[in-house]
Amino acid sequence: MTERRCAGCWQIKDRKDLIKITNSSQGIVINPNSYTFGRSVYLCYNNSCIESAFKKNKLAKFLKAPVPSELKGYLLNELRDN
Ligand SMILES: [Zn+2]
Repeated sequence: MTERRCAGCWQIKDRKDLIKITNSSQGIVINPNSYTFGRSVYLCYNNSCIESAFKKNKLAKFLKAPVPSELKGYLLNELRDN
C-alpha cells in the first residue's frame, strides 16, 4: 500500500483515497496518469481538506506554481460526482 499525506489535514492515507494534484510540464493536472511527473500534492476527497488547501495560497506554495481559482470549484464538483 502506498501511503501519502493529505495537505489539508496532514493525515496519512492510502494513495487511492487521495486526490493527486501535480504541477507537470502541461500545467496543473488532477489525478494524472503514471506518465505525468512533477511536484505533487495529495488531498482527501472531502470539502474541508480542499478548502484548507486553498487557504492562504497553501496549494500554490506546495506546488510552487500559481493555482487557478477555478480549480477549487472543479475539485468540489468532482466530489459531488463520487
Ligand atoms: Zn485530508
